Amino acid sequence: MNTNYLVLVNKDNKLTDNWLDTIELTYAKDIWGEDMKIEKETRTQFRKLREKLFKDKIYLLLDSAHREIFEQEYIWNKFEEEFGLEYTKRYVAVPGYSEHHTGLAIDVCFIYDGHIISENPELAESKEVFEVIHKNLADFGFILRYPEGKEEITGYGYEPWHLRYVGSVEIAKYIYANNLTLEEYLKI
Ligand SMILES: [Zn+2]
Repeated sequence: MNTNYLVLVNKDNKLTDNWLDTIELTYAKDIWGEDMKIEKETRTQFRKLREKLFKDKIYLLLDSAHREIFEQEYIWNKFEEEFGLEYTKRYVAVPGYSEHHTGLAIDVCFIYDGHIISENPELAESKEVFEVIHKNLADFGFILRYPEGKEEITGYGYEPWHLRYVGSVEIAKYIYANNLTLEEYLKI
């Protein structure tokens, strides 16, 4: 497999049509115990990250990984009904332009202190836990894809739960150390 782990998918960059021929998808359990698809190396590295965080008493869970375009359509419609168009535009990708189509992006939630924290508002409030999670990402090749204060560049509001595998610990560390987004890194 000749997977381009640095592929850029955002509001201006649609995923290429043949993408699924260039990655190996496998399965992982989501928070409800259901199988979902995820790119193979991303899963391996996620498991290592989870093991590390387990030592910090954070039990990381997968809320979402690879999504088909029709699944993204469903999410878009659900958000629009519930939160309105403006909110949806800010937080949900247009079908075909979601990083979740790559299989390299994951949304995490966690069990901490005996509680499952999985809803967006509670996640947004869990700053201390996310601080620990974010500090560990680069060691396993992950980056925080939509950091605070970078909305103009990424096109998305702060999403502490949305992680992206970039295929290289070295690159992830560089991005983290220099406080970059993937967009900024790819321009260098
Ligand atoms: Zn996400």
